[in-house]
Amino acid sequence: MKTVLATGGLILNEPLLWEKGKRGRRGMDVPASDVPAAKIDPEFMGVGPDFPDLSEVDIVRHYTRLSQWNFGVDTGMYPLGSCTMKYNPKINDKIAATPEIAASHPMLPDRLCQGTLKIMYELQGYLATITGLDAVSLQPAAGAHGELTGMLIFSAYHKGRGAARTKILIPDTAHGTNPASAALCGLHPVPVQSGPDGILDPEVIARLMDQETAGIMVTNPNTLGLFEENIKEVSRIVHAGGGLVYGDGANMNAIMGVADLKKCGLDIVHLNLHKTFSTPHGGGGPGAGPVCVVDHLKKYLPVPRVVKDDKGYRLEYNRPDSVGRVHAFHGNFGILIRAYSYIRCMGAENLKKASQLAVLNANYIKEKLKGDLHLPYDRPCMHECVFSDQKQHEFKVSTLDMAKRLMDFGYHPPTIYFPLVVSGAIMIEPTETESKDDLDLFIEAFKEIVREARENPEILHEAPHLCKVKRLDETAAARHPCLTG
Ligand SMILES: *Cc1c(COP(=O)(O)O)cnc(C)c1O
Repeated sequence: MKTVLATGGLILNEPLLWEKGKRGRRGMDVPASDVPAAKIDPEFMGVGPDFPDLSEVDIVRHYTRLSQWNFGVDTGMYPLGSCTMKYNPKINDKIAATPEIAASHPMLPDRLCQGTLKIMYELQGYLATITGLDAVSLQPAAGAHGELTGMLIFSAYHKGRGAARTKILIPDTAHGTNPASAALCGLHPVPVQSGPDGILDPEVIARLMDQETAGIMVTNPNTLGLFEENIKEVSRIVHAGGGLVYGDGANMNAIMGVADLKKCGLDIVHLNLHKTFSTPHGGGGPGAGPVCVVDHLKKYLPVPRVVKDDKGYRLEYNRPDSVGRVHAFHGNFGILIRAYSYIRCMGAENLKKASQLAVLNANYIKEKLKGDLHLPYDRPCMHECVFSDQKQHEFKVSTLDMAKRLMDFGYHPPTIYFPLVVSGAIMIEPTETESKDDLDLFIEAFKEIVREARENPEILHEAPHLCKVKRLDETAAARHPCLTG
């Protein structure tokens, strides 16, 4: 191998501030008090926290060093299938920090926030156009929250027709949040086995669909990274049985400008702005999972809705069939602004191109690595491709070993052991922004790891070698977490 991204050196150790502090150090001086000291009852004061004394340099170095232990999309490739950290354009942050936007109070009357309401209204419109559906709520704070909102709408719809249905079909290639969201709404998930080609078989759906079934939740592209080619027929069967079709569109970044989800038969779809529309996605920060619906389900959308009439934009609360509010104020507004900024910067043609490049890049990796890694479904994929460790079994090397070793080469590991339908799965999503040069470097690193698996498997068993922490005992970390360092 010619070049490696990671080298190791100059990543410095850093203790806890409590271990680093020395009595008497200080980072700043407070002017001497010019008023007499007041007497305070020590009883009332209690015992204060034992904060360490630190100098300015102690603190600056502490946080700078910690930041250098971090890895993100601005550091390097982050191919964590589906939940991959994607492009976060800096212009988005600049726009979100515009004082008129950042300081706009969520309780302003409509007439004083026409600009922010207009942005929300237009964003709803863009997302409707991108999915092909008719109406949108921007409130849900994450993909799973969008699913929950969607399932509340399913229940409201069936109740409205006088028939509470209790079951929901969930394919084995669905995202794990789907059955959880349905169960939270009191629906009983019925597993659906995908066909040998990794996609849904309409005949299986026809056998399972009955009068008790509220509908189906289809992740499309599914968690194998495959487009559900029979989605139209699946939707037809579910509709004929009186059910609704929910589309998990978290990974719309594979099909923007290419698939019209209404024509596919979907009634409700959620989007993940933090997966498709470039909003930041790490560290448990805010996300957004807008929900799009077809016309006849519009009345169930959460309140308030941003609407427009001849007097301008306003929030509409009086919607008796609504499932209610699912987020305080307007949802995660700062995130909505970033997605709006991204969509406006890109324009329709470039959004489509982003999807095409995401798919091209994933297929490039799939084709280049399929001789080295077992490819359980050898067919064109969408934004991600799924391999397994089957070919490495004979060397006693596992998916975990290879994922850990990738860190020595400077890559965040991909998603591993998911989806569950592939034993020892390795799910790689390169994203649309990686250049061919960067993809080739990643492919070369993976090929080197596969060579090592054959010739020197011990290296892999003990990987990572260059990271700050080596192989962790994950069970002990979960059972006996040490939270003090
Ligand atoms: C990430 C993801 C979700 C969940 O989204 P969150 O924002 O993490 O709640 C749901 N479905 C699919 C297919 C996903 O990739």
